[in-house]
Amino acid sequence: MARAYNFSAGPATLPLEVLQQVQADLVDYKGTGMSVMEMSHRGKDYDAIHAEAIANFKELCGIGDDYEVVFVQGGGSMQFAMIPMNFLEAGDTADYANMGTWSGKALKEAQKVAALRGASVNTVANCAKDIPTRMPADGEWKFTEGAKYAHICTNETISGVQLKKLPEVNVPLFADMSSDILGIDRDFTKFDLFYAGAQKNLGPSGMAVVAIKKELAAKGNDKIPTLLQYRTHVDNNSLYNTPPTFSIYVFGEVMKWVKKTGKANLFALNDAKAKKIYDAIDSTEFYRGTALKEYRSNMNVTFRLPTEELEAKFVADAKALGMSSLKGHRSVGGIRATIYNAFPMAGVDALVEFMKDFEKKNG
Ligand SMILES: *Cc1c(COP(=O)(O)O)cnc(C)c1O
Repeated sequence: MARAYNFSAGPATLPLEVLQQVQADLVDYKGTGMSVMEMSHRGKDYDAIHAEAIANFKELCGIGDDYEVVFVQGGGSMQFAMIPMNFLEAGDTADYANMGTWSGKALKEAQKVAALRGASVNTVANCAKDIPTRMPADGEWKFTEGAKYAHICTNETISGVQLKKLPEVNVPLFADMSSDILGIDRDFTKFDLFYAGAQKNLGPSGMAVVAIKKELAAKGNDKIPTLLQYRTHVDNNSLYNTPPTFSIYVFGEVMKWVKKTGKANLFALNDAKAKKIYDAIDSTEFYRGTALKEYRSNMNVTFRLPTEELEAKFVADAKALGMSSLKGHRSVGGIRATIYNAFPMAGVDALVEFMKDFEKKNG
């Protein structure tokens, strides 16, 4: 077996132990005589998987019974549309931070819905001109009195910048946490709604895991299509229609793995992995970190080399050594090393050694 060190930003590396468990369970899940893929989503075997996955996620996030956790198809991007469709009515204002590509996309979707409905969207903490180097600074947050909600992104996956300190808000706070959920210590109770496309830190692609305050789901618009209402997913325990059962099962296995590893251990390991790469970048002029130091992400490490030709060679040479997907996002170029929870330290060590060697040969 040859596992690559997969630096992809999503779909991303899953824990090997989880993949092996999934493999062992694949054709006969715990003596049921069938794969989880083949089971009825209304049966008791699947029901146990579903319930345990949600319970473990809630425990890991430290959220209580005032939250519901639902699985919604359409990935992180569908949430960009669902949020304003549910909560932005005529005359309302919503605050959106523009902190990078993803929060910028969320902002655009909200503007579309606002235009249809006669609502307004206010760009708060707009650091668009400094993308990809930073996130909003403390004093930059200017929320609107009476806004329906404020939307932020905790980690901008493409820039490699991360919000280390949450803003103080007096309106409901919503967050896209697709690329750092359970990868850094956060107080999840500060959010009325948070979500993550699963394919970064949580499991397979194609769905978002959404945590929403119960009372908030009940307040959403009830005139929009049924499947787009949070209330539908909340009231039916994500079983209104057939959910992505296999993805939810794998997500549940990842949650068991996070619990077994221990959150504190995982956060410390993530910081240590990131520090090794940033130290390698900072130890020479050859590599140049893209993000300002105080905003550096512990999940997506972005950097440049002296020329684009060298960057292309760096990516190709690394690939030949079993380190894949180091090319930065097509919109920004450069190099991006993504090191989510499941990415092993041995892969970071291999990258750092390669960086030194590459500079010696090409610097
Ligand atoms: C990947 C990503 C998304 C989009 O997720 P999809 O599941 O591809 O729609 C949204 N936000 C952030 C921060 C991401 O990293």
